[in-house]
Amino acid sequence: MPQQNLSSIVSILKTKGFRLTLARKQIIAIFEQTKSPISVDDLNLELHAKSIHVNKSTLYREVEFLVEQKVIKPVQFQEKNKRYELADLAHHHHLICNHCGNIEEFEVENCLLELKTTVSRDHGFTVEDHTLDFYGQCSNCQKNKLTKLAN
Ligand SMILES: [Zn+2]
Ligand SMILES: [Zn+2]
Repeated sequence: MPQQNLSSIVSILKTKGFRLTLARKQIIAIFEQTKSPISVDDLNLELHAKSIHVNKSTLYREVEFLVEQKVIKPVQFQEKNKRYELADLAHHHHLICNHCGNIEEFEVENCLLELKTTVSRDHGFTVEDHTLDFYGQCSNCQKNKLTKLAN
């Protein structure tokens, strides 16, 4: 699936007759530029960095609006707050570092094909989608640990 660029998301919303405030456009741009799922708090920090100040309830409403419009979708990890990412990204998985909190995305070709075949054979169940996230220690944290041990 091709990745939507900023202008296509914005123009689709425009066609649907929605208002495109500066904040809304910037929020979409942030999701476009961010390589991993972000929380509403992260989003708030990014907006602040761009000198755009939106109050929390407006921000939550904007996020909800973008979810309703299927621009972004929620991703739930083993943490309290939900995160969000663009809804039309190609199928991918997440690597979540338990130490620094970094989240990396990766894609696999013919993902879990064998497992899906087994599931449909043994359970008569047609798998249409799946999620799979890995928790552990990222390469950076492993390097840092080694450096600390060496010193
Ligand atoms: Zn890490
Ligand atoms: Zn997969």
